Amino acid sequence: MSTQTAEAVVGYDEALTRYDPVLGLEVHVELNTATKMFCGCATGFGAEPNTQTCPVCLGLPGALPVVNATAVESAIRIGLALNCQIAEWCRFARKNYFYPDMPKNFQTSQYDEPIAFDGYLDVELSDGEVFRVEIERAHMEEDTGKSTHVGGATGRIHGAEYSLVDFNRAGIPLIEIVTKPITGAGERAPEVAKAYVGALRDLLKALAVSEVKMEQGNVRCDANVSLRSRAGDDPTSAEQAQVPLGTRTETKNVNSLRSVERAVRYEICRHAAVLDGGGSILQETRHWHEDTGVTTSGRPKSDADDYRYFPEPDLVPVAPTRERVEELRATLPEPPAERRRRLQADWGYSDLEMRDVLNAGAVEVIEETVAAGATPAAARKWWTGELARRANAEGAEVTELGVTPAHIAELDGLVRDGRLNDSMARQVLEGVLAGEGGPTEVADARGLELVQDDGALEVAVDKVIEANPDVVEKIRGGKVQAAGALIGQVMKEMRGQADAAKVRELILGRLT
Ligand SMILES: [Zn+2]
Repeated sequence: MSTQTAEAVVGYDEALTRYDPVLGLEVHVELNTATKMFCGCATGFGAEPNTQTCPVCLGLPGALPVVNATAVESAIRIGLALNCQIAEWCRFARKNYFYPDMPKNFQTSQYDEPIAFDGYLDVELSDGEVFRVEIERAHMEEDTGKSTHVGGATGRIHGAEYSLVDFNRAGIPLIEIVTKPITGAGERAPEVAKAYVGALRDLLKALAVSEVKMEQGNVRCDANVSLRSRAGDDPTSAEQAQVPLGTRTETKNVNSLRSVERAVRYEICRHAAVLDGGGSILQETRHWHEDTGVTTSGRPKSDADDYRYFPEPDLVPVAPTRERVEELRATLPEPPAERRRRLQADWGYSDLEMRDVLNAGAVEVIEETVAAGATPAAARKWWTGELARRANAEGAEVTELGVTPAHIAELDGLVRDGRLNDSMARQVLEGVLAGEGGPTEVADARGLELVQDDGALEVAVDKVIEANPDVVEKIRGGKVQAAGALIGQVMKEMRGQADAAKVRELILGRLT
């Protein structure tokens, strides 16, 4: 039985003729600190349930928290990279609510005193247009535990026989990054949402403050969407800015870039149908369903949700000195967009080639492969071709296949030295992937080496020419492309161990 009742939606293009979408994106980022936000427990992913806990993160009476200095530094670096102001003094607050996987009955967070505020992130869209997303705040908080509902069909608590709670995640440091209302995107709102989360992910990766694996929940996005009526054709006009914002819904925990785009688009179409029918949007949280591509109703949510925040009395305020902030600013990496442009120019890739590289998540490995001695062209060919396909089929990253940048540089060297042709190089790569050793080792073990003996090659070429008088006639008649058939046969004679370009040269030399 499905609880995902289909709701009326309006076609996307039609919805945009009447309404102007406004977004608000809240992204939770799990930091990759070795220990938790307020205690010394380990943060590693995938440990046995409840093995990484202590009285502090279990909220036992009398346990006293201590702020993780590395997490504060990461928060400041994220704030600086997002062009934010850094608070001179800020505090933690208790956000009081009951949740079964939060044993203290409050979450230690920041409320009206975030560590970073008033920033922006410039986001590049697919056609190269740059869209500025303004940042309201970035604040520190702790993650909750994780509940697993067992025995039901949906994995939700309804219909489950029992629930299990794992507190390993409780207390892991989180940074929540909240945008100001994103207006002026018009019909590109879903694309802007996706590009923003993608750019944020790249930035966090460059800062090395998080593992940024969306599928593991390291980065989770809550997408707020509202519609207001259109005032003319230009979504960035002053008249449009005067139109009051509509009621918003918040789609929780969207965990892939593609889903962010789809969920925003769906909500725009659903809101439009409600408004067209004379109804009003209920301010609520929504759940996104990847499989069916729809959102369903969660719980009602008012702006005035009374969490009874109050200052956390057990923690000292955070007051970074300006000198320390400047020291941290000096550690910021080259911004990802600038770095991409520099590498593309260095490597001589076309825009399309660079996009393939980005889509394959291969910028870093290509950089390392080129540094290890491969040509940029060869590095791109292997990492976005064979290896990207392989990674895709296995649901893994290209870096998780067991092939290193040094392997690919070595393989490229063997090809450039004339020891291997392309198809032999592929066989060698198979061997490396299968754990048979490095490229030279695999080539030696499998006896893969181009025949350098021109005599043997000439004998094979003569034999094939002799056996195919009809093809020979075509080539002599000017149909040079017919040589392909002969090259294939010569390669077969040579059991693949010949240089195809050389074979072609020999055949055409004989016949033209
Ligand atoms: Zn702990």
